[in-house]
Amino acid sequence: MRILLAKDAGYCFGVRDAVNLAYNTALDYGEVYMLGTIVHNENVVESLSKVGAKVVDSLDEVPKGKPILLRAHGTEPGVWDKAKKKKLNIVDATCPLVVEIHNEIKKLDADGRRIIIIGDHGHDEVLGIAAQVNNPIIVSNFEEAKALRKIKKAGVVSQSTQMLENVQEIINVLMEKVFDLRFINTICFPTRRNHEQIKELATKCEVMIVIGSFTSANSNRLTQLALERNKRSYQVTCAEDLEQSWFENCETVGISAGASTPDDIINSVVKKIREIGSVTEEELIYE
Ligand code: SF4
Repeated sequence: MRILLAKDAGYCFGVRDAVNLAYNTALDYGEVYMLGTIVHNENVVESLSKVGAKVVDSLDEVPKGKPILLRAHGTEPGVWDKAKKKKLNIVDATCPLVVEIHNEIKKLDADGRRIIIIGDHGHDEVLGIAAQVNNPIIVSNFEEAKALRKIKKAGVVSQSTQMLENVQEIINVLMEKVFDLRFINTICFPTRRNHEQIKELATKCEVMIVIGSFTSANSNRLTQLALERNKRSYQVTCAEDLEQSWFENCETVGISAGASTPDDIINSVVKKIREIGSVTEEELIYE
């Protein structure tokens, strides 16, 4: 058996930088506070908590002088204002590509367009994007787009981790509904690369393994893309989830991981698959 590991499997640079910042801030100050979990991965949250990272529901729970880290996927302006008013020690870990989406949506709004965001309802990044403008419409799928009324002038952005196919389907519907439509493709490049790699890998391998928490929309999307192309695709959260029977009559196994999956979990899954398949060669990196 041989192993093909997707080159961009795992942390995107935005999440990697945010997690490193959380670790370093916790080490410098003894603790760091975050509004909600920093990434959708239980293992990362647990290891961060061991060095003093604490998850809180409200800014009121942050003691004076202690750092509050604003997460990679963006924060609503109201929360920023409140943190500044309370003179909290703000550590900004917002991904620059999320900041770009905020800037684009504000420009579309200033151009007098009805704002449409293609994204998952209730997702933190989408809430942060939505809060940049007044009363945007959030559309998560084709059916919701179909239900919209005709619009004269609209501006559309997407959540950074959306699947291109979903966005394309929605835009096709919007082209029939909107007279003057401006769409800015804000799917970020790490997401696009990761999606392209898994689409190709899933067709090249007998078995496809996606590593990621089931609470991570991003990991679940990778699994969906893999399953659409290869029925022998499985999502695992860690090495213990792997089942030997999946690898029967398998010559090549592909591996990828969601943007919130840390390197040590990817390494332990690769190691276990090597043991199951008695693989002696180094895994190949798939670009
Ligand atoms: S998924 Fe993209 S936008 Fe989101 S944190 Fe990662 S690089 Fe930034």
